[in-house]
Amino acid sequence: MQRRTAILIVLIIFMLPAICFAAENRAVPVQGARQTETTSVKNVLKGKTIVIDPGHGGSDPGAIGKSGLAEKDVTLAISTELRKLLEDKSAVVILTRTTDRDVHSRQASDAQELQSRVNIANKASADVFVSVHIDSFVDSTAKGTTTYFAPQLVRGELLASKIQQSLVEQINLPDRGFRENNFYVLKHATMPAVLAEVAFISNPSEEAKLQQPDFIKKAAYGLFTGLTRFFSIVG
Ligand SMILES: [Zn+2]
Repeated sequence: MQRRTAILIVLIIFMLPAICFAAENRAVPVQGARQTETTSVKNVLKGKTIVIDPGHGGSDPGAIGKSGLAEKDVTLAISTELRKLLEDKSAVVILTRTTDRDVHSRQASDAQELQSRVNIANKASADVFVSVHIDSFVDSTAKGTTTYFAPQLVRGELLASKIQQSLVEQINLPDRGFRENNFYVLKHATMPAVLAEVAFISNPSEEAKLQQPDFIKKAAYGLFTGLTRFFSIVG
C-alpha cells in the first residue's frame, strides 16, 4: 500500500508541469492575446533611441524664403514638436541641436558640420536617424514633399516610405515620393536614416504654410506617425 502511494506521488510530481501547462494554455483567451498585441503596437516607440537632426543652424540659415523665413528655424520648430510626441511615447530622443547654433563650430567645413551631426547618432547607437529639411529651388513653382534614403542602409527605404506616406497624409502637399540620395548624413549613418524635405520654402504658398504653427504641428505628427509605422513593422 505504501509503495503504491509512493508511485502515485511520483507520478503526480512528474505529471504536474504538463497539467499546469495545459491549464495555462486553456486559460489564455483569444481576447487576452489580442490585448497583448494591441499593447505591443502602442508601445513600439518605447525605449527606441531616435536622433532628430534639425537641418542647418547658427551661421548656416539654410534656404531663405521670399518673406525672409529661414529653413534653420522651421526645421528646429518641427523637430522640437516631434521630440514632444516621441517622448510622450517613451522614446529616447536626441536632437543634434536644440537652439539656433552650429553643431560643430562656426568655422567648420560642411563635411565637419554634417559629420558632427551623424556622429551623435552613431555614438548613441540610435535605432533611427531623421534629418529634417525644407526644400528650395530656383523655380518658385516647385512644390511638395520628398523623403530621401541611402540605398546601402538596411531598412532606410522602408523608413523613408513610411515617413513620406505619413507626412503627405498630414500636410497634404504634392507627393514627390521617397527617393535614393547619398546625402552626407545618410551616407555616413550606421542605422536606418532618412532626410525629409517637408515643403518648398522657395514656393510662396508653401512658405506661407511653413509660418503657421498648425502646419508645423502637422508636419511633426506626420514624421511621428511614419516612425510609429516603421517600428510597428520592424519591432
Ligand atoms: Zn536643408
